[in-house]
Amino acid sequence: MNVYDSEMFKKVLRPLGYIPVDEVEDADLVIVNTCTVRKKAEEKAFSFLGRMRALKKKNPELIVAIGGCVAQQEGSAILRRMPYVDLVFGTRAYARLAAMVEKFEYDRIPVVDVEMTMGITDATPIPELDAEVEVSRFVTIMRGCDNFCSYCIVPYVRGREESRDPDAIVQEVRDLVERGAREVTLLGQNVNSYGKKEGLCDFPELLRRVSEVEGLARIRFATSHPKDLSPGLVAAYRDLPKLCNHIHLPVQSGSNAVLKKMKRKYTREDYMQRIENLKAVRPDIALTSDMIVGFPGETEADFDATLDLVREVGFSGIFAFKYSDRPHAPAAKFEGKVSEEDKTRRLAKLLDLETELSEKRNISYAGTTVEVLVDGHKEVKGVFQWTGRSSCNRVVNFTEAGKPTDGNLVGKVVPVYIETGLPHSLRGVLR
Ligand code: SF4
Repeated sequence: MNVYDSEMFKKVLRPLGYIPVDEVEDADLVIVNTCTVRKKAEEKAFSFLGRMRALKKKNPELIVAIGGCVAQQEGSAILRRMPYVDLVFGTRAYARLAAMVEKFEYDRIPVVDVEMTMGITDATPIPELDAEVEVSRFVTIMRGCDNFCSYCIVPYVRGREESRDPDAIVQEVRDLVERGAREVTLLGQNVNSYGKKEGLCDFPELLRRVSEVEGLARIRFATSHPKDLSPGLVAAYRDLPKLCNHIHLPVQSGSNAVLKKMKRKYTREDYMQRIENLKAVRPDIALTSDMIVGFPGETEADFDATLDLVREVGFSGIFAFKYSDRPHAPAAKFEGKVSEEDKTRRLAKLLDLETELSEKRNISYAGTTVEVLVDGHKEVKGVFQWTGRSSCNRVVNFTEAGKPTDGNLVGKVVPVYIETGLPHSLRGVLR
């Protein structure tokens, strides 16, 4: 979502004459777009901003701005902590960004805008379109979240759920396809509840409408909350060939006691049932997930239940993180905090299991042919290779051995015979 938002910053600032540069030292304006979902991300943002102090000393005209979730969370406190910051703008202020920059250029008085008032209307600018469009693009369909999981800061910094108009979304997808995109990833904190509040069409219907866009080859989405994974979405997997053979379904823990404290509103059994429903229509669907280790009160037995669930589902990828207290989130006040040492050990164990499962899954593709959406090429040890992703979201590197094409394959979906499954990618040859 931050990638998408950053594209919007480019779009709204272009009329003021700002264009992207490759080196931060060459910039007249630096925007640090931040994430605060974990403490580490927030620390990284502040450390990067710290570097801007020296740049500003060298070039007092430089404008330093911070946007996104950390800006939303900290507001004007950032100006007290880092007086060389000029603009602080929150997660819903990007449509006002150009006006803020213009005002600052004129009076050099720092501006803070963390108003949550501007929702995701379609007066909201859509991302930069006149640059060369990549093969795969993000499209935000909704913002904010109403779920209030006990560890999560998102509802406080990104606001309540708001969905975009489906016609505007479909139009944006059409525009992207016209400019060369072949795949879109529909984004929202909880895409399954798309349109419910506003009485728009539901998410499966939106998928249907997007899949009718001519020239679009693939659709992905993120993120889907297990509690809201509806029969309609399962039916979409059954009926829509453009919907990729992959779902990212964050489970967070395999222990019912922990899930309850996390306020996830599903049990391990509910989760397994959803997986079964998906596998009934797409038996080889690739499943990935998010996991938190060391949630307050998590025992060794709870953690073992997580490992057990990971094995049972056979995830092909996991994003695992150590729990960290976030401001506003109720879990920050929970008792039974797990020691850093235990969190580190559990994370390492989970990541080892992830590597083992991912490799196993990749090896299982050897000897099969997969459809690859080609997104680029590279040279490895003097050998030219195309790169892309399979429908199940595996990175595939392949050569044209014996079948040289003289055209550019970027943007094409081609069959690739997989020779080798590596821990993090597949290697093959063009069929
Ligand atoms: S569903 Fe839960 S974890 Fe996801 S953004 Fe909403 S509150 Fe955070």
